[in-house]
Amino acid sequence: MSHDFDLFVIGAGSGGVRASRIAAGHGARVAVAEEYRVGGTCVIRGCVPKKLLVYGAHFAEDLDDARRFGWQIEGKRFDWATLRDNVAAEVDRLNGLYQNTLDNNRVTTLIGHARIVDPHTVEVAGTRYSAGTILIATGARPFQPDVPGAEHGITSNEVFHLPELPKRIVIAGAGYIATEFAGVFHELGSDVTIINRSDTILRGWEPALADRLLQISMAKGINFKLNCRLEQVEKLETGLKLHFADGKSIETDVLLWALGRVPNLEGLGLEDVGVALNDKGAIAVDASNRTNVPSIFAVGDVTDRVQLTPVAIREGHAFADSQFGGKPTQVDYRAIPSAVFSNPPLGSVGMTEAEARNAFGQVRVYTSDFRPMKNVLAGRNERALYKLIVDAATDRVVGAHMIGPDAPEILQAVAIAVKAGLTKAQFDDTMALHPTMSEELVLMR
Ligand code: NDP
Repeated sequence: MSHDFDLFVIGAGSGGVRASRIAAGHGARVAVAEEYRVGGTCVIRGCVPKKLLVYGAHFAEDLDDARRFGWQIEGKRFDWATLRDNVAAEVDRLNGLYQNTLDNNRVTTLIGHARIVDPHTVEVAGTRYSAGTILIATGARPFQPDVPGAEHGITSNEVFHLPELPKRIVIAGAGYIATEFAGVFHELGSDVTIINRSDTILRGWEPALADRLLQISMAKGINFKLNCRLEQVEKLETGLKLHFADGKSIETDVLLWALGRVPNLEGLGLEDVGVALNDKGAIAVDASNRTNVPSIFAVGDVTDRVQLTPVAIREGHAFADSQFGGKPTQVDYRAIPSAVFSNPPLGSVGMTEAEARNAFGQVRVYTSDFRPMKNVLAGRNERALYKLIVDAATDRVVGAHMIGPDAPEILQAVAIAVKAGLTKAQFDDTMALHPTMSEELVLMR
């Protein structure tokens, strides 16, 4: 039976666009439906604009540090609207490039909410399209808690469009988004408070690094209220009042929810076609990204495997190669590098010390705790911390974790070595590149 399209993709984010482009390159007739903007979370309201804000904010400390390097900078002043609007313009440019990619690959773009009607039919804006295969790549959205007044808070969707820089901001959560925006707003001059339900920041990260970020953030002047339960958000004439279970309260101009992200499943018609969810409430897929309905697949955050853009892209690519390119491909989830663009940033690949001890029993741990030379001259009392985890039996480096300037840039290169299964002896055999921070990686004895 001939369908309108060979592949119908729902969601034009990182995973959906890659799958569309590659499938079209393999000769498939492809349509992609998008209800907001082509590019998805990463490009439109995630990684990309966030990283640009991180760059923008960091000039604050660089300009301070510059004095110790002989620069006299008079009358520095920050204008939020300039940064916000320039970032928005860059997002518009990238949005256009993503659309061009789809157009150049002859992928039909349909703007509107898509609903799956049956295993081979999707409806967008009242029109039904048939397809041999359907790919769900709708991503995730910020979780909003069930607290009275929660609607007065904003999420990472809105934070890029604030009319003005808040004097005070409270960020709920202590994961990736919370720590990244805490760094940004603190450097831009806002009074920042992180509130979290546990006494941990960056749960799941190597604890020594998370602790280092906590110590440095507190020394910089970021406030933390940990082990707390927010009970109510009250709207005041000027700002918000947050009421906690311990009877205390905080007033703020902006409350930012950063409590994790939940799969976008609403209105997709999944119940009608019987697509099964997993115990996390995400779409359940096998190693080939196939759901329990044979013609329907899913990739990216909507499957809640690893919520990272490069993972969604790999999944989309593997799906397209497997289903339309005659090249069955599965994503390798081992040793996925990850970074937090906090101030200072963290980078990590492979196992934490605790994970490695559970897996191997005997491990060797190497740490380097040092003050980067730029910080020394700048009079900035912030130490970097690098940690290598080695399987004692094989001498393989099974984990690398670092916090300090440029940690994510350095970590990407280390990730190649860890993924390749290189040994500590091979790290040590590598000549140091002096003077750098990354030379610590080959000097840990
Ligand atoms: P995270 O999962 O990183 O952190 C969630 C935070 O919210 C934790 O501190 C957690 O507390 C707390 N929390 C979770 N659920 C609740 C709840 N029901 N009530 C109160 N507190 C809660 O989520 P983010 O929103 O920061 O980011 C979402 C995902 O997006 C990340 O996991 C990551 O995969 C991705 N991302 C990646 C980035 C990058 O690569 N640099 C940047 C931004 C996002 P606790 O852990 O203490 O229990």
